[in-house]
Amino acid sequence: MDPARRLEYLQTIGVDVWVRRNEPAPQPPATVVVPVPALPSAGSVAPVAAAVPVGAEAQWESLKAEVLSCTRCALHSTRTQGVFGVGNRRADWLIIGEAPGKEEDRRGEPFVGRAGQLLNAMLLAIGLPREQVFIANVLKSRPPDNRDPKPDEVAACLPYLMRQIALLRPRLMLAVGRIAAQNLLATDMALGRLRGQVHHFGELNTPLIVTYHPAYLLRSPADKRKAWEDLKFARSTFQRLASQES
Ligand code: SF4
Repeated sequence: MDPARRLEYLQTIGVDVWVRRNEPAPQPPATVVVPVPALPSAGSVAPVAAAVPVGAEAQWESLKAEVLSCTRCALHSTRTQGVFGVGNRRADWLIIGEAPGKEEDRRGEPFVGRAGQLLNAMLLAIGLPREQVFIANVLKSRPPDNRDPKPDEVAACLPYLMRQIALLRPRLMLAVGRIAAQNLLATDMALGRLRGQVHHFGELNTPLIVTYHPAYLLRSPADKRKAWEDLKFARSTFQRLASQES
């Protein structure tokens, strides 16, 4: 990746807050204190996928139609539209958030607006354009006023995510935010205790790593440094798993 562009992405996700206190202001890129390892080419992290087979494409479209017309839980009556998920249907990386927010509900796409832009920058910082991953939420419909999902809503909606995973067969899942992580891992452990380790999800035992939600990072920029650690951990885990399979 072009060094200037990489620096731009890193600054967007908060590299400039990672300088130790009491040190002179950095003159990027040489004075950034936290070392930024050389990034692999985007291709080595998420190879450009081949076209989705016709049969699989039909299954994706059928599943999407089910989600968009779903009335399994009460959220269907307050949403503008279902938010199925977006991205490469042959992606190695699956990014999972909590639920659509106001803007996502309006546009029918997960992670748009400022939080979406920050997520894009976070992914680009590890060499992953948004178009090379698949992005979805635990809940496909927006809870009113962005309240936390209720257990019965998660129970009703999780089968859709399981079917997305069965179709996608990602090599790595990245759960962003406490709500997504706790629901996927069926735990009430604090997010801080779930970070920094490889969990596994579902029947396929898909490796899963936890990090902060970009909307939280916008409110708490001091934690961007920790999010960057999570992303580097996810990237190195992905590369280790890929090398074991080859
Ligand atoms: S949240 Fe899920 S289960 Fe509930 S109505 Fe939306 S798509 Fe259906």
